[in-house]
Amino acid sequence: MPTCPRCDQTVAADAVVCPHCRLELKAYGHPGMTLYRAEQDTYLCDTCRYHLDDTCNFPQRPTAKTCTLYEDVNAVTPPPAVYRIPWWRRHLGWIALGVVVAVSLAIALL
Ligand code: SF4
Ligand SMILES: [Zn+2]
Repeated sequence: MPTCPRCDQTVAADAVVCPHCRLELKAYGHPGMTLYRAEQDTYLCDTCRYHLDDTCNFPQRPTAKTCTLYEDVNAVTPPPAVYRIPWWRRHLGWIALGVVVAVSLAIALL
């Protein structure tokens, strides 16, 4: 469960504001829109992927203290979906061919 960046209390993942200190946790009151916050004396842009690859055109760049689009350049990204497809689905053609050959052999041997 996430914690509030101001009071460090546990909060629900979809909490719009912290129930303990009332800090705004989500942007525009929407539970699905995370509002990222910079630590004290730092800027989000310093570690943001969109600042480092020079694709951000937000006016608050490069001194954003809060941002909805922040993406940590140091975060480990999950592998692309293609690697999560089960092995048997990637080899369905070979498996079907093996079944056909096995059935043909069984019929020939009867
Ligand atoms: S997306 Fe936000 S945090 Fe990232 S560079 Fe732009 S303003 Fe900064
Ligand atoms: Zn709080």
